[in-house]
Amino acid sequence: MSISPKTMQAAILTELKQPLVLDEVEIPSELAPGQVLVKLLTTSICGAQLGEIEGAKGADPYLPHLLGHEGVGDVIAIGPGVTVVKASERVVLHWRKGLGIDAKPALYRWNDKPLNAGWVTTFNQYAIVSENRVTPVSSTLDPEIGALFGCAVTSALGVLMNNAKLKLGESVVVFGVGGVGLNVVQGAALTTAHPIIAVDLVDENYHRRGDRRQYSMPDRGKQALHRSKP
Ligand SMILES: [Zn+2]
Repeated sequence: MSISPKTMQAAILTELKQPLVLDEVEIPSELAPGQVLVKLLTTSICGAQLGEIEGAKGADPYLPHLLGHEGVGDVIAIGPGVTVVKASERVVLHWRKGLGIDAKPALYRWNDKPLNAGWVTTFNQYAIVSENRVTPVSSTLDPEIGALFGCAVTSALGVLMNNAKLKLGESVVVFGVGGVGLNVVQGAALTTAHPIIAVDLVDENYHRRGDRRQYSMPDRGKQALHRSKP
């Protein structure tokens, strides 16, 4: 089936350590089996993308390419075989594999040349995403909060549940209260860990997290962060 729109604005990484290039990108005219076309509402930026831009892992053989792996959007169209989502449903876009087909990455074009993209990208107005990188959510979910479920929240809970295997009443120290670390604190509070100690070297970051905890941190986590204030 053919799809519209034909083009979109996207932020493209063309060179390491350089600002992203905002430009018009061609969207493939058809969806392959297992692919989903999503109109993005929000995206987060994760440390992984900052690392990609800075070349933290060395040379990048995929340049130029699109970026981003956590966002919220609305499904515009689905490709053959897709069963996890329907058109018009709201979804979280995530990098971890979920349910459904592991489709091939989209073949975008920019300046008449192929533009690389993985199974999910979110620094673009639209995204052709593999079915197993989207999960339907309530249309009432705040898209700014929902985007964090694509990486920060799930990475944090995965660390607690699968790696640390945190149990009721155990204590936790969290080094670095960034996007993932803050959610580790919240997840630990939900598990009634005690005490929860958050450590961050950057005062400025601490104060930013401090504002956020006012409305998002369960009481116990809030108290724990307060106690750890330098
Ligand atoms: Zn991430």
